[in-house]
Amino acid sequence: MKKITIAIDGFSSTGKSTLAKQVAKKLGYIYVDTGAMYRAITFFAMQNNWIDAFGFNKAELISKLPTIDLKFVFNPDLGFGEMFLNGVNVEKQIRSLEVSSFVSQVAEVSEVRALLVAQQKQMGKDKGVVMDGRDIGTVVFPDAEVKLFMTSRADVRAQRRFDELTEKGQLVSYDRVLENVLQRDHIDTTRKDSPLVKAEDAIEVDNSELTREEQFDKVLEIIMEKM
Ligand code: C5P
Repeated sequence: MKKITIAIDGFSSTGKSTLAKQVAKKLGYIYVDTGAMYRAITFFAMQNNWIDAFGFNKAELISKLPTIDLKFVFNPDLGFGEMFLNGVNVEKQIRSLEVSSFVSQVAEVSEVRALLVAQQKQMGKDKGVVMDGRDIGTVVFPDAEVKLFMTSRADVRAQRRFDELTEKGQLVSYDRVLENVLQRDHIDTTRKDSPLVKAEDAIEVDNSELTREEQFDKVLEIIMEKM
């Protein structure tokens, strides 16, 4: 069967990555979590004290972008690629609420976006890829054969993210998680460079009331039709 490109965009914590992983596994496609790339650069900026609650030294981060090496290294036990930043596995660190609280500021920087979009285009150049993010169907692969736009109610999303973080042993409050989800939605949809918008030809999937299985079945049907 001819390989295609599947772009999954949407708001924070709408379950894009869970869905993308399920689809990639089913089709034998490569899965690329572009949020992990923005998160790794944010973690790098935090490690260097260029971003914190008091400010963000964008110029310093921009000047050091050429020194950042990002790689997904496939972990067969997990079934997906883990993020390595300059040779170190940072998969766990980049999922913290602290990284989540700064990542949208970093993702607003055009130089960061240009660098990551170029890498993402390269990763998907041979098709057979499922990529999730905010600008995949609009900027990275505007010609993707399947474009999905995921939404769900903010309270449902915050609860999912809260459960996820708590399960991983992180001490967080539901209110802080909800606040973060809403704040990221705001920055991601209002930024100048590549804001989160639904591509005209994207199919919207609201999964507020869907189980993972129901969502997967629905999406698989859409994909099979396009294939
Ligand atoms: O998908 P995830 O929630 O891990 O993404 C983290 C953040 O990275 C988003 O809130 C957004 O600010 C940024 N991002 C982006 N463009 C993408 C993927 C993520 O701006 N393609």
